[in-house]
Amino acid sequence: MSTRIRPQPGIMEIALYQGGSSGIAGRDDVVKLSSNENPFGAGDLARAAYARSGHDLHRYPSTDHASLRAAIAAQFGLDAGRIICGAGSDEIISFLCQAYAGPRDEVLYSEHGFLMYRISALAAGATPVVAPERDRTTDVDALLAAAGKRTRLVFIANPNNPTGTMIPMEEIIRLAEGLPKQALLVLDGAYAEYAEAYDGGAALVEARENVVMTRTFSKLYGLGGLRIGWGYGPQHVLDVLNRVRGPFNLSNTQLAVAEAALSDAAHVSRSLTENARWRDWLTDRLNALGVPTDRSHANFVLARFRDPAQAEACNAALLADGLIVRQVSSYGLPECLRITVGDESACRRVAHVIGAFMEGQG
Ligand SMILES: *Cc1c(COP(=O)(O)O)cnc(C)c1O
Repeated sequence: MSTRIRPQPGIMEIALYQGGSSGIAGRDDVVKLSSNENPFGAGDLARAAYARSGHDLHRYPSTDHASLRAAIAAQFGLDAGRIICGAGSDEIISFLCQAYAGPRDEVLYSEHGFLMYRISALAAGATPVVAPERDRTTDVDALLAAAGKRTRLVFIANPNNPTGTMIPMEEIIRLAEGLPKQALLVLDGAYAEYAEAYDGGAALVEARENVVMTRTFSKLYGLGGLRIGWGYGPQHVLDVLNRVRGPFNLSNTQLAVAEAALSDAAHVSRSLTENARWRDWLTDRLNALGVPTDRSHANFVLARFRDPAQAEACNAALLADGLIVRQVSSYGLPECLRITVGDESACRRVAHVIGAFMEGQG
C-alpha cells in the first residue's frame, strides 16, 4: 500500500519503549522489581493530597506551577524562577530535544544511557550519537571525543540507569568545561537523592550557562504513576523551555501531590535508609554468590552473569518464583539483570532464588 502521508524522518526509527513488566499470569504473590519504584509506595502526605485533589477536578490547573516551584526551590535551595515542571522528567528531556535539536544536529549520550535520550532525539529529527563507557561507567574523555560541531545536547544520568554507577563532580565539571560552545549538558538526576553528598549538579547549573539538571518524583518519592518531574537551568534555557511547555501540562492532582510528597520528610528518610541498607546487603550477597555486582548509588543493582544465556536462565528462575526484574539487552547489557531494591523480604527472596540458581550452575 502506498501513501503519501508519512511522518518526519527519524520517527519510524524509534523502537517502541518496553516498560518493566508488572505481572505474571496466574500469580498474585508477584513482586515487581523491574521499574525502580519505591517499595513503600507514595507517602501518607502524598496519598492524603491525592484524595483531597478529587474536589478540584472541574478546575483548570495553575499554568505557572508557582506553588510547586516555590516548594522545590525551598527544599533544595534553588531559584524558583529557573525551575520548570513536567509530566515526569521524560517530558523535560523531550522539551530539551524539541527546543535544541533538529535535523542535522546530534544528541550525545553514553553507551548504557537512558532509552529516552534516543527516543526524544529521534522524535525531534536529530541524530543520536553514543559514546562508549569504561567499566559500565560514564567516560568523560569518550564523550568529549565524540562531541563535535553538530552536538547540541549531551545527556548523562548520574547515577546512571541501568548501571547504578556515578562519576564525581570534578569529572562532570571537566565535561561541562570541555564541550563545544553550542552544546548543552543535561545532568539527569532521577536517582540523585540516593547518592550521598550529591546535589544533582544544582551548584554547577548556577555556576555555568551550559548545564541543565532534571529531577523526578517517580523514584524516591514513589510517584511514578502520577508523572511529575522538573528541570533546573540557566535563565536563557528556561526562557526557551517555557515556550515549548504546554500551559496545562500538569494537573491539579499532580501539582498538589508532588508538593505534599516534598514535605514528607519521614517517608523520604525511611525510603533512603531502607534502600541504602538493603541495596548494600543485596550487592554483597550477589558478589558472594559469584554474580559480580557494582556498588550502586541508586535504588537498583545491576547483576552480571557469565553470558546472556545465563542471565536469561536466571531471569526465568526469578520469574518462576514470582520475582520480576529487568532484562537490559536494550541498554546493551544482555548478560545483566537490573534488580530494583525492594523491601527486606523482596531482597531476601531475590538473594535466595539467585543463590539456588547459581548452585545449579556448577
Ligand atoms: C526513571 C528515570 C527517569 C525518570 O522518568 P520520569 O519521566 O520522571 O518518571 C529519568 N531518567 C532516568 C535515567 C530514569 O531511570
